[in-house]
Amino acid sequence: MYQIPVADPQIGEEELSNVVEAVNSGWVSSKGAFIEEFEKKFASYTGVRRGITVSNGTVALHLALKALGIKRGDEVLVPALTFVAVANAVLYVGAKPVFVDSNADYWCLDPQIVEKKITKKTKALICVHLYGHPCDMDPLVKLAKAYNLHLIEDCAEAHGAEYKGKKVGGFGVISCFSFYGNKIITTGEGGICLTNDETLARAMIKLRDHGMNPEKRYWHDVVGYNYRMTNLQAALGVAQLKKLDLFIAIKRQNAKLYGSLLAGVSGLTLHPEMPWAKNVYWLYCILVDKRQLKIDRDALITKLSTYGIETRPFFYPINRMPPYRKYAANDNFSVAQKLSLTGINLPSSVKLTADEIYRVVDCLRP
Ligand SMILES: *Cc1c(COP(=O)(O)O)cnc(C)c1O
Repeated sequence: MYQIPVADPQIGEEELSNVVEAVNSGWVSSKGAFIEEFEKKFASYTGVRRGITVSNGTVALHLALKALGIKRGDEVLVPALTFVAVANAVLYVGAKPVFVDSNADYWCLDPQIVEKKITKKTKALICVHLYGHPCDMDPLVKLAKAYNLHLIEDCAEAHGAEYKGKKVGGFGVISCFSFYGNKIITTGEGGICLTNDETLARAMIKLRDHGMNPEKRYWHDVVGYNYRMTNLQAALGVAQLKKLDLFIAIKRQNAKLYGSLLAGVSGLTLHPEMPWAKNVYWLYCILVDKRQLKIDRDALITKLSTYGIETRPFFYPINRMPPYRKYAANDNFSVAQKLSLTGINLPSSVKLTADEIYRVVDCLRP
């Protein structure tokens, strides 16, 4: 066990009392008052009309692609540098993931490269607000309109982040969130799809419940799934949502402290925040230049761990791993590759104290 973890959920008395209430009510599966309350409140927090809770963030992406009719023969643009679930969801519907390199300034997928990768087969674009920083939405929305693509936002790492003053999750036709234990708020496992489109909302509600016709019990119109969230998870979610703005404020304050303490260290690139962005710093990140810092990324991770400090390396570019290589033949993802080799996620829990941040920073200084 590390003394200072990367992430640690903050679960208190309100969460416990909600879960106890859900258990005592007998509504322990996927019916119950907390589900509807959580869906309404989370959608309204994000500024979107409809919320459809699901069992995790990965199936949220699958459900979104399924509801949009993405299928075999279609291409879906995804970032090369992100969590693997994004590419997997595309493969679950039989479509082809087409990888897009990152922008060097803010690490999310680069809109200029997106445009170059669009073909006649391209049906959708999944943009991921990586490590808490929003994507550059104006050009992405414009491209989606111009080429008639479904824009899906993956907000699993960016609850409450903003682009030009508007919360992420409000730009895509569907946006997907995760409430896994290490995300900004958690329901244990869990996820949600948000949309302003009533037809898509109905399609997702049906697909997550075995494809059952809502007016005719045990009549199944389509082959669906059991992707429902439980009332126990939603009970946690309702209490966590009340604290989301507080968690974001703490994360931003911790990022500010990391930033000011590390600002003078040559060889470190700090977690960016573009002028148009409100970064929620899901995980506070740095990039390591081994020549200037005289220690490479992996050795630095080992050094920190000997001081009881947990960190994580950035994701591998998805296209580099065996099941996905064939979708990215001969392509060059130099920015994603460089980020992947040099990036570290530092301790970022909302429980992190200033003293602990000082300890981490002491280990990062040469
Ligand atoms: C965590 C995560 C997911 C998957 O969420 P789960 O709830 O773990 O299935 C999807 N996309 C991104 C970018 C994530 O970080």
